[in-house]
Amino acid sequence: MRSISLTLAALLIATSALANDPPAKSQKQASSKEDILSAQKEETKPIKEAPVRESKAESAARKKEAQAADELAVKIAERLAVIRKDKEETSRPLIRPYVRPYSIPVKKTGSMEDKSKKVGPSSGKHWSYDGEEGPLAWGKLNAANTKCDLGERQSPIDIRDGIRVELDTINFDYKPSQFQVIDNGHTIQANFGSGNYLNVSGKNFELSQLHFHRPSEERINGKGFEMVAHLVHKDREGKLAVLAILLEIGEPHSIVQAIWNNLPLEKNETVKALKNLDIIQLLPKRHDYYTYMGSLTTPPCSEGVLWFVLKEPVQISAEQSAIFARLYPNNARPIQKTGGRIIKESL
Ligand SMILES: [Zn+2]
Repeated sequence: MRSISLTLAALLIATSALANDPPAKSQKQASSKEDILSAQKEETKPIKEAPVRESKAESAARKKEAQAADELAVKIAERLAVIRKDKEETSRPLIRPYVRPYSIPVKKTGSMEDKSKKVGPSSGKHWSYDGEEGPLAWGKLNAANTKCDLGERQSPIDIRDGIRVELDTINFDYKPSQFQVIDNGHTIQANFGSGNYLNVSGKNFELSQLHFHRPSEERINGKGFEMVAHLVHKDREGKLAVLAILLEIGEPHSIVQAIWNNLPLEKNETVKALKNLDIIQLLPKRHDYYTYMGSLTTPPCSEGVLWFVLKEPVQISAEQSAIFARLYPNNARPIQKTGGRIIKESL
C-alpha cells in the first residue's frame, strides 16, 4: 500500500507541476515517466530487503502489490503524456474571430422606397403604421433607423409656401413594361426591370418600383388626398428620386386596376403579370410639380431623396380605393417638419 500512496503522491506533484508550468518546460516534463518509474523502484527496494521471516503468502502479496504499483506508474505516465499534449495544443496562440465590442443590428431596410430585392421576409425588424411599432417608434426599433427620429429633412411634408419659378420639365421615358406585384406587408408594390427613366435638369433616374399609400402622405396647403402612388427611381450613383402622383376619387383607373388584378394571395409572394404595364398612362395630363429634398417615408427614413410631387391629381374609383383599404386602410407616415427647407413649384 505504501508504494501506491507514493505513486499517487508523485502523480499529484507531477500534475500540479504540469498545470503551472508554461509550455517551454515541456522538455523537462518529458522525463517525468522515467522519474516516476525510478522513484517507484527506489521506494520498493527497502520492502524487497525485508527480513526473511516473512511468510511465502505475505511475500507473494507484496510482490503482487509492487507489480500493481509498477503498472499504475506506467498508466500515470501515459496519462501525463496525454495531459501534456493537450496542454501544449491549447496553449498555442489562437486566431480569434473579430468580435464587435458592441452589437449593431444588421442594416436591413425593407423600405418601400428601396429596390424590390430588399423587400420581403428578410426586410428586417418589423415596423407598422400604428401601435407599439408605429411611426413614433420607428427610430427606436433599429439602430439603422435613427434618421426617423433625428433627421431634419424628413418626408412627407405639408407642401406650402413654395417658391414659384420656372422649373425644368420632367421628361418621362417610360415604355410598356413587364411587372411583378408584391404585397410586402406595408403596401402593394409593382416592381419593374430596367429601361424606364425620368430625366430632369440633365439627371437621369431609372424607375425601379411603384407603390401606394392610403391616405396620401403628402399634403398640399394642408389638404390630403384619397391615396398617392410613389414611383421610386434611382440614378447611377444610387441617389433616389421619388415621383408622387396624388390620387382622388372619380373614374376608375386602368393602370391601378391592372396592378390590383395581379394582387398576390399571400404576403411577400410576387405575381408576375402576363400583360405589360404602360406606366406613362398613370401620369396626369399636366406635369407641373413641387420639388424639395426629403427622405424615405418608411424605415430607415434615409435622407437625400429628391422629391417631385405632381400638382394635378389623377382619378381612381371609390371601389379601387376600397380594394386597397381592405389590405391597408392606413399606411401613411404622419407629416414631418419642413424645418425651413426650400420648396420650389412650377409657375
Ligand atoms: Zn412611398
